Amino acid sequence: MGESVLKTIVVYTFVLLLALALSTVFIVIPAYVHHIESHVPGGFDSLYLSKYSPYNTIVVEVDYQPGMEPDPKAIAALQEKIELYSQKHVVMHVNQDIGYDEVPILISGNELFTTTTRLQQAHRDYPTGWLGGNITLYIMYLDTVWQPDNSEYASNMPAYQYRTTSMIYSVGVTYAADSIIIFKDALTQENTETTILLHELGHVWGLDHSNKPDDVMNSEFNVYNSVPLNHEPDFNQFPTNYSAEDKLRLAQLHESPNILPFF
Ligand SMILES: [Zn+2]
Repeated sequence: MGESVLKTIVVYTFVLLLALALSTVFIVIPAYVHHIESHVPGGFDSLYLSKYSPYNTIVVEVDYQPGMEPDPKAIAALQEKIELYSQKHVVMHVNQDIGYDEVPILISGNELFTTTTRLQQAHRDYPTGWLGGNITLYIMYLDTVWQPDNSEYASNMPAYQYRTTSMIYSVGVTYAADSIIIFKDALTQENTETTILLHELGHVWGLDHSNKPDDVMNSEFNVYNSVPLNHEPDFNQFPTNYSAEDKLRLAQLHESPNILPFF
């Protein structure tokens, strides 16, 4: 009699634990990925990088407007860095998907949010899976100018910018946990594209800005862009590497079992 009661308790405990595990995998993680943190740059850092992440393939979808085709060298460098730090299988899809007339010539402040929502609904082919499988990174190359303002949304976006006498130009922005824009027309030198792309990837992985001249997370575009009088800039010197501290952080994220912040 005592033995069968014990058996019943063991069975019920097992079923309860199984239900908890299943609800974590099938409800908590998908809910987190799709709603709670999806709008926060860096929110998916360990889902991309941790070896304990339920996602085992990273799909990178790049959609561009006519004339804004990404530099294959920059795309190859992006893929290499993602493979290096995530140790996951990376699949690239690059498409000229977005039409000339789908994007306004100037986007200001919060309009970035409505514009990107509309463009993602129309063109994004690879959303992140609900139950593991693939996590995706969505990159748009747009022929427009974004001028952030002081609104809370715009000022919280980690944008990479430079300033002329009349305007602020954004060259890249990470506007969600899994989404980047490259404003290709604002890149004054071809060699900066790899730097900007890897910089925004750093934001996706939760890295902050630095002021080190050889760090790809340096946010002072003028370091690369402004040319002192009588000096030719050395355009081979754009940084394409993270700092030693950031590399350590990325390696720690790869080992971290904390794939969700509330665990
Ligand atoms: Zn930045």
